[in-house]
Formats: sequence, C-alpha cells, structure tokens
Amino acid sequence: MTAADGTVHGHTKLVDHGPDAGRWTMTILSEGYQEDELPKFHTDADAFVDKLFATQPFTDMWCAINVYRVNVSSTDSGADDPAVCGDGTVGTGKTAATFFDATFCVNNTRRLLAGNSARALLTAQTEVPETDAVVVIVNDPQYGGAGGTVAWFSTDPRASEIGIHELGHSAFRLMDEYSDAMDTWPGGEPLQPNITADTNRATTKWAGLINAATPLPTQTNPDCTTTNTAASPVAAGTVGLFEGGGRARCGLYRPEHDCYMRNLGVDFCAVCRQAIRAVLVPHLPAFSGPQVGTQFTGSVPANATNRWFTYDWPACWHVVWTVMTDAPVTPGPGITWDVNVERANRRHVTYWISITNLTDNPIGVTGRYAIVAKV
Ligand SMILES: [Zn+2]
Repeated sequence: MTAADGTVHGHTKLVDHGPDAGRWTMTILSEGYQEDELPKFHTDADAFVDKLFATQPFTDMWCAINVYRVNVSSTDSGADDPAVCGDGTVGTGKTAATFFDATFCVNNTRRLLAGNSARALLTAQTEVPETDAVVVIVNDPQYGGAGGTVAWFSTDPRASEIGIHELGHSAFRLMDEYSDAMDTWPGGEPLQPNITADTNRATTKWAGLINAATPLPTQTNPDCTTTNTAASPVAAGTVGLFEGGGRARCGLYRPEHDCYMRNLGVDFCAVCRQAIRAVLVPHLPAFSGPQVGTQFTGSVPANATNRWFTYDWPACWHVVWTVMTDAPVTPGPGITWDVNVERANRRHVTYWISITNLTDNPIGVTGRYAIVAKV
C-alpha cells in the first residue's frame, strides 16, 4: 500500500522529437504491474501512444510531443476494488499492494480510479525532469479512470480512450461535457475553455467559432432533471451553444453536440481542439526547409518525366508547395509540371516536383518553388 510495495526501474523514450525542454513531454507510468508483467505495460503504453497519435489535434501537432515510459513494478497486480462504494455498486473487496495505491471507487463512484498523484508526479519528474503531463496506466481490466494533476486509466478494452479523455482534464484544463450530476448550474462563468454560462453571441467564450446563422442557444434542455439525449438540431460539427455542460444539465453550455469530453471515442469538438493546440503550439520545433523562391535548373529527356527536389516532411507540418515558372521553358504543349504528395506513412509526407516532357526533344528547364508551412 506504499512506495515500499514496488520498484522504479528507469525510463525509455518512446517518441523523440528533440530535447525535452522544447517539447511538450508526456510521461507514462505503470501501476499494478508485477515485474514479470512489465512487457504487458510496454504493449499497453504503445497502444496508448498510437491512440493519441490517431486523435486530432495530436496527429497534426505530433512534432511538438515527446513521450517517455517509466517502468514501475508493484508487489501485487491490479488495483483496490472496495466491496462497498456508496454509489450502490458492489466490488470484489480486493486489495492490491501497489506502488501508487490505485483504487476504484474514489469519491464513492465505482468508475473513478486514481492513486497517489503526488507520488506519481514525483516519480515522473525524478525520471524525466522536463515532464509536462503524467499519465498512469493501472493494470486492472475493470472500466475506470480519473483526471486531476495526473491522468489515471485502467486496462479496460477502452482504456486508451479513457486515457485521452482524462488527459483532456489534466493537461489541457478541459471540463467534462456530459452533464449528468446537477440539475441547474448555480451561476458564474467557469474557468475551463469548453464550458460557458454566457449565451450572448458577442461575448460568449468561443464567439469567434460560431457562424452568424447558427441559432443561440443552439439546443436547450426541456427537462433539467434529465440529461438531454435528443439528436442535434444542426449538422454534426456545428459550433454553437448546446445546453448541458460540465456536470450540469441546465445553465451551462458546451460548444458542439458531441465531443471527446462528452463521449469516448468521438472527435474532440473544435473548441477543445483549439484549446489543446494552444498548449502544444509553443512546443513545435521551428519549421526548416527549402526557402521560398528557391531556383532550380536542369533538363528532361524527350518523352520522359523527371522527379525533382524530393523532400520528406514530418506529418505535423501542413506544407503548401507551388512551382513558379521561369524562362526559358514554361509549361506548354507537351510540357507539364506538378507538385506531388505521397503519404508513405502517417508520420512522414514526401513532396516532389515532377516535370513531364512529351515532346521529341530534350528540354532545359528553370523554375522556382515556393513553400509555406501552416500550423
Ligand atoms: Zn469539447
């Protein structure tokens, strides 16, 4: 039940985009894995990293992120599961001697799973001093998780999705959007970026993302004693004010009908994506690549296509590449050029210029290319 119930075995860098001081650095800790179960932790941590990478806006911002895993073994496997919880559920009564003391039934809620967050933070910061966010994978198949200063989640089959939701709380200050615990919000504007009590079109928190044609409020809840499960009155992805936010059924509004902070496995809404990007953007490495207006010259044989100026870009950069024409040869009858994009895998994109010469004579070509990177 204490740090004496386990051992810290050191760390491994799973995602490396350069020195930690510049990147947003996430550290994944293991809880409730016995020493001979640590290979399973490696698999579980990899699955979480893959899931995070596949979730926007993390895909686009991947170059800003470093990830470590810290191997911590425990005396026992799993987490505590109190028999009596206070929410009417019945647990197994299991107790497990583990390094971070994780238990289900935090705050009398069975699915709330957490342990000693101060110990988790200290362990992460001791191993990885530049840690920005800490997640703990708890080796127990029961559904559960929680987000505070540290994100906790179990190895339930949906664990990676729980983990990303909890990371939304712990690292990006996002609030739940599932409106399940309180009839009516007592008033006051919450600090979190994805919840508001303000229905004024000019002043509401995400006013800049709301189309003028979208009605406000966009959806109200006719019965504040029940979470509103009605279909959206507007197209999916429309940003507006949907009543039912945080844990309140009425009086608080969320930005879209659905969001990762409301239901696991759906996309983050535009406001949550914007909040996550705002945290990650300062951690992106500087864009480096061929300069705008760089000149190229060469020749293309008769009836051939030449491939020019191939560059690999990390997938986080949105690169716009254009070719400008110069004398003596410009596109014309039999001569064309194009910018090609090839996505070899999700992490790298290759761009190249192709010049096709369908005339019966070799040609000399000159041109310039312009490149713009957009974040
Ligand atoms: Zn959201």
